[in-house]
Order: sequence, then C-alpha cells, then structure tokens
Amino acid sequence: LRACGYDGPITLISEEKLLPYDRPPLSKAAITEEGEPVPVWLLDAGIVASLKADVKLGYAAASIDRAAKQVVLADGTAVSYEKLLLATGAKPRKLNTPGGEHALLLRDFADTIVLRARFAPGKKIVIIGGGFIGLELAATASKRGARVTVVEAQPRILMRGVPETIAKIVHDRHVAAGIEMRTGIGISALHHDSVQLADGSVLPADTIIAGIGAAPETRIAAEAGLLIENGIACNEHLQTSDPDIYAAGDCCSFIHTRYENRRLRFEAWRSAQEQAATAAENMMGAAKIHKAIPWFWSDQHDLSLQIAGMPDMGPVTVTRHPAEGVVLLFHLAEDGRLMGASAIGPGNSIARDVKMAEMMMAKGMSPSAAALSDSAVQLKSLLKT
Ligand code: NAP
Repeated sequence: LRACGYDGPITLISEEKLLPYDRPPLSKAAITEEGEPVPVWLLDAGIVASLKADVKLGYAAASIDRAAKQVVLADGTAVSYEKLLLATGAKPRKLNTPGGEHALLLRDFADTIVLRARFAPGKKIVIIGGGFIGLELAATASKRGARVTVVEAQPRILMRGVPETIAKIVHDRHVAAGIEMRTGIGISALHHDSVQLADGSVLPADTIIAGIGAAPETRIAAEAGLLIENGIACNEHLQTSDPDIYAAGDCCSFIHTRYENRRLRFEAWRSAQEQAATAAENMMGAAKIHKAIPWFWSDQHDLSLQIAGMPDMGPVTVTRHPAEGVVLLFHLAEDGRLMGASAIGPGNSIARDVKMAEMMMAKGMSPSAAALSDSAVQLKSLLKT
C-alpha cells in the first residue's frame, strides 16, 4: 500500500505473536541449520516503523461488522476500515483417524522448533502424507540422522499437481537417502508410539507428523456473509463479494482470466506475494486484473522442483533433458499453446529454463514440440520467434 502511494493509516492484525516471517524455511533450513534458528523476518521492527503501520500482534480478529466497517478483535475492541484485506492463509488439516491427536503438524515457527528437537540421530519418524510438507520434512529429518518412513494413501506421492515422471524422481531420491516410502496404504489408528496401517502392520514411531493438506481459513469471512467457494471467493480483481473487502494468499480463490475464467486458489509463496500487490493497487482504486502465472518450488535433498503455469491444462507432454539428472516437461494444450512447465534437477539447474517457459507462457506462445524437446535449441531463441 505504501509503495502504491497510500499515506493514510494502516493496521495489521495478526493472531500470531511474532512479526510476519517467511514460511518456506520452516520445513527446510530452519531445521537443518547448525545454529539456533531465528525467523526470517518479512517485516522487522525497522520496516514496521518506516511503514508507519499499527501492528497488532497476538490479536485474533473475531468478526467483521460490514455495516459499521469495523473488524472486531477477540478482546472486544474494534478497528475501523475503509478497505479491508483478508490474508488469513490456511490451516493444516488434522487427521480424523482414531488417535489422530498424536500427530504433530507444521504451520508456524513454534511447530518448527518442536520438530527440530525431535529430529535426532536414530529417532523413528513416521510422516503421514506424501505432499510438500511431508516430503520436505522427510528430507530434513533424514539429514539430521533420523530414520524416516513416509506413508501416503494415494498410489504415488505428489499425486495432485506434480506429473508422475517428476514424482518418481523425487520418490527414488528419498529411497536413495534411506527413507522408507509406503504409498497406496491408509492409516487405521495412531498411538503415542506407533502408527497402525490399514493392512494391520505397525510402524513404531518416536514422532508422528501429519502433512495431509491445508484448508483455507475462511471463518470470519463466512460469518460476515461473504461468498465462499474453495476459499474466500474473489473476482478477477481479488475483490470479495463486498466491494470494500479484498483477499490474497492461501485463503483466496479468484477468477483467473488467463485460464478460461476458472476459479483457482493457490497455496504458494509467490502467488501470495503477487496477489498482495494486485490487491493493494485495487484497494487504492485501480481495477487491475490478477493474471499472474502460478509458480512454486520445493527443495528436497539436493533436488529442486519447480512448476509454472497449469500443467493439468496441457494434455500433451514434451520432455527435454538439458543435462544429466535434469528433466524438464512442457505441457501443451491440444491447440499447441504452452500451458505449463515442470522440472526437476540438482541445485538451481532448472531455474533458468523454467523462467524461459514462464516467459513463453506470458506471451501466449505455441512453441514447436520438436524445438522444445531438443536441448541443443536454446529456449531463449524460441522466445524471440
Ligand atoms: P499437500 O501438498 O496438499 O499434500 C498432502 C498429501 O497428503 C496429499 O498427497 C494427500 O493426498 C495426502 N493425504 C491426505 N490425507 C491422507 C491420509 N489420511 N493418509 C495419508 N496421506 C494423506 O499438503 P501439505 O504437504 O500438508 O502442505 C500443507 C501446505 O503447506 C500446503 O498449502 C502446501 O502447499 C504448503 N507447503 C508448500 C511447500 C512448497 O510449495 N514447497 C512446502 C511446504 C508446505 P490427497 O491428495 O488424496 O488428499
């Protein structure tokens, strides 16, 4: 808002007691780094002062009084608004299996500190869910010397949103690191020191973690009568069904005009950042359409995975092998348009190519499959055609 030229009062209400910090390190560096972890601040005290923002930490927003244009806090005090942004994020889903309360969850910095202490050499860690949290934590726990088992109910890990070729490379890398990968099997019960699987077998566990997905935090929006549809429903301007209230981040679903006006919701760092920028401009009176190409990454062991665009809208897959151990998939629509790119490789081997693919998507290009699959053809040269 300040970058957009707004000079009026800003109040930031956060239930968490810490200033806003970056979450991606919580499942990775904050656990593996040698020294005591500290949050990577997004806003530190100096930035807060320079923004002249009133930051209310440890205050839950209890309700929204839309008629009075006020947010009522849990202690009964009210904060008035002209424009309101809901950036309430998502909450981890809890296991509803008997004994589900024995599973730890990861969402905030305090959770990371608990897990870090438990990831010690020889400790038996059972992780339920082969999604991003589960797999990143499996890599971190094994790096700290723990003995890790991942249990995923689906036939394979990363079933949603990650192509099978790439998921298999991730799977094999975990196995190579000594992690036991149990796919296609459900959980029947949790005990404080074991996990019972649907086939009756029992996995002993010092620590059980559930990473079984997240649900958008929509409670105050729903109670205020805002439209909810897989999150707080927004239009293409990130405006909710109340014109003075906007949403951004994991909690927000919106009409994506780049993708056939589908209502989409992304649980990804960069989407949240870009949506915040669009919402701020629109709160200032612009009518910007949020058209950003989705992108996310995950780091596990020495591998980095990146996905850009909407792979599920590109039924034709073209494979490129730019180097040993690097796989890049392009997902083309029936009419030839590039809709998505997925890649995996060591370190930052894939970043540049995925960026090129993103730029092609931004231009709405239909590059030839032959050129995309030929690693002798520079992707940069295709961009110029
Ligand atoms: P997720 O990526 O949605 O993965 C959850 C996985 O657990 C899915 O494969 C799910 O299968 C599976 N599952 C659900 N119920 C299960 C059960 N009872 N037993 C075994 N497996 C089960 O969610 P997440 O890993 O929990 O991550 C939570 C949030 O953090 C998400 O918003 C995620 O995007 C975010 N995050 C992102 C990153 C990143 O982008 N690098 C890293 C960490 C966290 P179904 O598909 O069948 O439900």
